[in-house]
Amino acid sequence: MGCGRSRPKAELVRFVAGPGGVLERDPAGTRPGRGAYLCRADGAAGAPSPAPECARRALERRGFQRALRRPVRVDGHVIDLDSTGS
Ligand SMILES: [Zn+2]
Repeated sequence: MGCGRSRPKAELVRFVAGPGGVLERDPAGTRPGRGAYLCRADGAAGAPSPAPECARRALERRGFQRALRRPVRVDGHVIDLDSTGS
């Protein structure tokens, strides 16, 4: 969805629009409704987090709004673009 690459679902992180159109992560992939997928960050242990470059592209191109077909508010903590550091 962000970079346009296609990957197996195991390598993706799912997002859904929660109450009020706030974007939320759906790590288990079980939330109902339409989902938006981003590449999973490589080598991330524990909770899956999206690949920063993929997330950035999705944000720039309003990919979440398009994938979920509704206005979406993206809070900073859902996608931490600053954690890209290295
Ligand atoms: Zn991607």
